Amino acid sequence: MIASMQDHQLRVPQLLDHAARYHGDREIVTAWPDGSVTRITWATLANDARKMAQAFERLGIKPGDRVATLAMNHTPHLVAWFGAIGMGAIVHTLNPRLFDEQLIYTVNHAADRVLLYDCAFQQQVDRLRDRWPTIERFIRIDGDGPGSLLELLNVEDGECDWYGGDEREPSMLCYTSGTTGAPKGVLYTHRSTVLHAMAGVAPSMFDLSATSVVLPIVPLFHAAGWGLPFAAAIAGAKMVLCPTNEPTILSQTMTREHVTHSAGVPTVWLSLLAHADAANAFPRALRHVSIGGSAAPASMIARFEAAGVRVAHIWGMTETSPLGTMGQRPVGWALMDEAQKLSVASRQGKPPYGVELALVDDAGEPVTHDGVSPGRLRVRGPWVVHRYYAADADAVDDDGWFDTGDVAVMHPDGTMQITDRAKDMIKSGGEWISSVELENAAIGCAGVAEAAAIGAIHPKWGERPILLVVRRPGSTVTSDELRLHLQNHVAKWWLPDEVIFVEELPHTATGKLLKSALRDRYAKILIDG
Ligand code: AMP
Repeated sequence: MIASMQDHQLRVPQLLDHAARYHGDREIVTAWPDGSVTRITWATLANDARKMAQAFERLGIKPGDRVATLAMNHTPHLVAWFGAIGMGAIVHTLNPRLFDEQLIYTVNHAADRVLLYDCAFQQQVDRLRDRWPTIERFIRIDGDGPGSLLELLNVEDGECDWYGGDEREPSMLCYTSGTTGAPKGVLYTHRSTVLHAMAGVAPSMFDLSATSVVLPIVPLFHAAGWGLPFAAAIAGAKMVLCPTNEPTILSQTMTREHVTHSAGVPTVWLSLLAHADAANAFPRALRHVSIGGSAAPASMIARFEAAGVRVAHIWGMTETSPLGTMGQRPVGWALMDEAQKLSVASRQGKPPYGVELALVDDAGEPVTHDGVSPGRLRVRGPWVVHRYYAADADAVDDDGWFDTGDVAVMHPDGTMQITDRAKDMIKSGGEWISSVELENAAIGCAGVAEAAAIGAIHPKWGERPILLVVRRPGSTVTSDELRLHLQNHVAKWWLPDEVIFVEELPHTATGKLLKSALRDRYAKILIDG
């Protein structure tokens, strides 16, 4: 049959061309920690990315080679991304907060040929360069002078075509955070990245348009900054980048640049909200925040909604590019009372078109969608992993389902709600307790800044929950007061056997609670005393 429609490849550089051609004067702003601000446009970014592509070619980089970045959120980082992807190379984003051993492992596993890094990580690079034998060239990504990205760009003219490979070729390589075992590489293709970005701009997702001003707080190294730079390019949104999560700088930048949309993990929002409350500095133009990476506490959602900011609660994983589902307002929202609204907004929501979810028991049989029966969450779709990088076997079953390792319930209306990571569920007397629900209830107690619930070994019940709590500055909340608060929110048998106040809780490199470290330290506390 004669094809009736044009067979255009879905490739990442064309996202940039689109932004440059139709929204060329919309800005990309970087607010540097020293207070300086740089502004370029999508048109300039596209031109710089072409120069970067030429520079990589001059360095001998070939399509399919891995180019690593060890950098925070700023414009030169995006120039490096689009330049490398534009000439057919694969961008491998390294997470600077990983331990040395993990950084050594991932660079060697990916066999990266070039590393572009922030000056701030010079010591880390000096310490590790001998352990990274595959890296032939180290380039400073910010700053100028010899050995910098700027020096490379300055000798190029930007007169080149993008590499025109197949849409199923890889564009980015992102490693999982590796809280259990070695980090695993997930290769995003050009096609998966473009489809994911097209889904991401929708009103029920990131809600981006050409009038949006979006500040991704999520680091570019966390699942490709949740795909926000690509979605922003499609929308032609103004993008604001901040290399730091320091709340004062973030909130000043949001106010100055009239940021309307932002996205980040709950931990960062907690500190930003605390700052906004203390300094009476809530970013005025903000109207849409995406919260994901771990469960958004109901109290946080309520705080934003009270300020007129719409919250989209995202669930996803590195393996899902990462958008898997997003909380959305259902029909009838306006008629709901505040408690109903909060309960619905706390769910992780529905998938965009393309992503399918399934809930199964341990035997792989379907679990009823009744909003209370938990099951293992499976996912499949065009931007979901098929096989990890350099693995010998597929990561999915014969029908393409990927087992997320998350435990969830499905509500009758099709919304999904995560109840826990399979390995973080607490099993007491044969019954499951959700550590996430317990933590969220605890965070709702005034005086509690952060809380982690883990199962401690118990001679009679198998496991019993214990709660580790960080108090807010100046708070004197006691374990009795906390228990009293929890009684109103969770079943009595869920109440923790111990409440332990700590100065701080350990986090993974992407800001999630590091429960394995807590289990190592506290799992035996109920038997050892
Ligand atoms: P990562 O690949 O590092 O982004 O981690 C993915 C994991 O983070 C998921 O499998 C979930 O366990 C957790 N996660 C992500 N988003 C949420 C959310 N909105 N609520 C609860 N857990 C989440």
